[in-house]
Amino acid sequence: MAKLGLRSRLFLSHLVVMMVGLSTLLIVNKLFSPRLFVLHLEQLEGSGFNLLLVRQRLVEGFDYAWSRGAFWSVAVGGTAAGGLSYLVSKRIMQPLVQIENVTQKVAAGHLEERLPSSEIPELNRLALSFNHMAANLEGVEQRRRELVSDLTHELRTPLTVVEGYLEGLADGTIAPSTDIYQRLARETARLQQLVNDLQELSQTEAGYLPIHTQSLDLRPLLKSLVERFSDQLVEGGTVLKLNLPADLPSALADPQRVEQVLINLLGNAFRYTPEGSITVSAWSETDKLWIAVQDTGYGIAPEDLPHVFERFWRSDRSRDRHSGGTGIGLSISRRLVELQGGTIHVESKPGKGSTFRFSLPLA
Ligand code: ADP
Repeated sequence: MAKLGLRSRLFLSHLVVMMVGLSTLLIVNKLFSPRLFVLHLEQLEGSGFNLLLVRQRLVEGFDYAWSRGAFWSVAVGGTAAGGLSYLVSKRIMQPLVQIENVTQKVAAGHLEERLPSSEIPELNRLALSFNHMAANLEGVEQRRRELVSDLTHELRTPLTVVEGYLEGLADGTIAPSTDIYQRLARETARLQQLVNDLQELSQTEAGYLPIHTQSLDLRPLLKSLVERFSDQLVEGGTVLKLNLPADLPSALADPQRVEQVLINLLGNAFRYTPEGSITVSAWSETDKLWIAVQDTGYGIAPEDLPHVFERFWRSDRSRDRHSGGTGIGLSISRRLVELQGGTIHVESKPGKGSTFRFSLPLA
């Protein structure tokens, strides 16, 4: 037997309810009305009316009137109720049919499709969560497309350079020398770096990166990081300072990810501060904790500031200098901070230096 659709089920259930109601009405009426009528006649006779001759005809008349009345009530009431129930079932089905259409469109790749709101609260909630899901999917798809287009752009440059050198070497227009091989190695290393950064970036952007937050005392973490960086840069012209208050409350964060963000910020600070000082500091506010990396390096031009957290973005200066950066570090850092419930900001003056600071929720 074919399965009944929701609309037929609703319609049938209305019909059944109506039929039960009508039959009860008819049966109860049929059982009691004639008796009550006869009782009424007997009362009349008791109070002195002589109904002997007309009594039979009165009862027949009542019966006839009752039957006709009942017939028309059932006919008119039944048709009206049936029609109404059909309309109601259709009305309930309408948004469901719409939901089906929209989900099919979204599944077919039209991620911009959205469900309209419905006056039925349950369906409205369904529409809201569906729209939320579709918006998320659309965001992921959008980021994926952008990533692929940025990526092709980024890969093309080193590949063109490598290709140029190799072709030159092959046809003899470039003489093989240590310098050429070193350049080739540098470009290959850049590609390697790009691939590593990309793997990380795609994980953070797709939200697959696991974040294990815990109550975290930042003092030991900051101290060991500063020590590690100081060791590496003994002969550099830059000094690294740590500025911590005596009591720093614990943050709710993932130690590995916080370290990753700090390594990126410190790495940048060193890269863009040939001489001067870099200061790492931390302080707490009402419900959050701030960590800042301040340098006295090149700084960033005001028009460049809004772009530093965009992926693949590098200032012209760092492109020229072959800084070796891929322009991915800060966008990963921002994602990591946001995944832990914080925000990241930058302030900078060209020639004076930059301050990157990020917040973490308090434990
Ligand atoms: P990269 O790997 O190129 O350093 P980032 O995303 O970490 O990528 O940084 C993006 C760009 O922001 C850098 O290329 C640089 O131009 C600028 N930048 C980042 N940190 C600093 C800083 N401390 N001082 C000056 N410029 C900076």
